[in-house]
Amino acid sequence: MSKKEEAKGITIKKSEDFSEWYTQIIQKAELADIRYNIKGFLVFQPWSVMSMEKMYHDLEKVLQRKGHRPYFYPTLIPESNLKKEASHLSGFTPEVFWVTQGGNKKFEEKYALRPTSETAFYQMFSLWIRGYRDLPLKTYQRANIFRYDTKATRPFLRSREFHWIETHCAFRSEEDAFNQVKEDMETTKEVLHDMWGLPFIFFERPAWDKFPGASRTFAADVLNPDGKVIQQPSTHMISPHFSKAFNIKFKDNDDKDKNAYLTCYGPAVSRIFASVIIIHGDDKGLRFPWEIAPLQVAIVPIKDDLMINKKVEAIKKKIEKVASVEIDYTEKSAGEKFNHWEMKGVPIRIDVGFNDIKNKKLTVFRRDTNQKQTISELSLMSYINKVSKECTKNLTKEADRLFENKIKDVKNVTELKSALDGGNIARCMFCSVDKEGTKCAEVVEKKFGAEVRGTRLDEKKVNLTNSKCVICGKNATAVVYVAKSY
Ligand SMILES: [Zn+2]
Repeated sequence: MSKKEEAKGITIKKSEDFSEWYTQIIQKAELADIRYNIKGFLVFQPWSVMSMEKMYHDLEKVLQRKGHRPYFYPTLIPESNLKKEASHLSGFTPEVFWVTQGGNKKFEEKYALRPTSETAFYQMFSLWIRGYRDLPLKTYQRANIFRYDTKATRPFLRSREFHWIETHCAFRSEEDAFNQVKEDMETTKEVLHDMWGLPFIFFERPAWDKFPGASRTFAADVLNPDGKVIQQPSTHMISPHFSKAFNIKFKDNDDKDKNAYLTCYGPAVSRIFASVIIIHGDDKGLRFPWEIAPLQVAIVPIKDDLMINKKVEAIKKKIEKVASVEIDYTEKSAGEKFNHWEMKGVPIRIDVGFNDIKNKKLTVFRRDTNQKQTISELSLMSYINKVSKECTKNLTKEADRLFENKIKDVKNVTELKSALDGGNIARCMFCSVDKEGTKCAEVVEKKFGAEVRGTRLDEKKVNLTNSKCVICGKNATAVVYVAKSY
């Protein structure tokens, strides 16, 4: 990209053409380069990686506080592991990259580049778990994952290699396992919403949309400004078949051998980063919650001048004790520098010119509210402290507003269509979220280009007597949410 092109900034309004806005922001803010010469693989650039590193840190801190311990597992998984559980195998096989030889020597068994690591972890769980005292076993790893996805690549949202954390846990009882699933949902709220400002709703996925090998799947859907939802972390009750297939047994205190109950949880950091871009970004570019900003303060010397340079260095020294800070000495005009840092989403910018120095003032700009103001030099540190505390809260409040009034109750297909066309999530009666509902779900997909996202756990039970399925008119057994998705 030429310097001129970058200087132009984002040339399209987010509300006018969201897809083009996303493409421009990825390229102009230098988040990812899609020109790597393997289809579906891309290069994540420093501005996104620096933020994602902080996201990993936040997530891992919370997971470790809740008793998870980190592992590094091999990237390769033998085919025989994947074959042990039939539904897992059929769910993932079409997406597996296989390693078939080392040097010139063909392997006797082929190895999968992990598409997810249940079958790697469980292999070892069967060796490590002996008695009930070995439980619960709460593990996790940060890893890159490979899936031969045939849909078009969209940076951070969909690529054939992505970056995530996966937790794998084993428990003594089904109740303990389900408590873990609930804890995973709380962790999602604590980190994604309260720390990174991303609003979402957890849905229990219908039978036809469960993780391959899970008996129950709960997934967080984030709503985009264009009315489509993106699936973010999901947590699963793993089917008892898995525990049996891998022989994960423990001797309980009644001296009986029992199979352990398994759960897994997968926050995909690179995909969550997409939601950070999408939810918080505006027409000027990125906006970052304070804690995960790649850079928190940018200082712009208005002119290349000895006195100004001395001043900005002194300011930088003060700030670097409390925040990450950089001085922009590039040869751009002041205006170009302003646009650059606004596009990059740096929470605070400080402009220093002759007048500022003369009056012992500083011109400051905060990206969360896009407000520019003049402050006295003496109040700089308290200003930074104030913005650091308010920035994430402001972005969160704005993001939460996106969800307000976006859920529409619909009674028939006409209302369903207009709710979806208006960029909403529709709430309606449905015949079944078990296999019997598959047909009606297909109608939803074919007719409206939307999906049944599932039911809500955090919702009061509705009396369904006399309620009919919005599609087939049979007696309803569930209240479901329908939305368009990526
Ligand atoms: Zn139906």
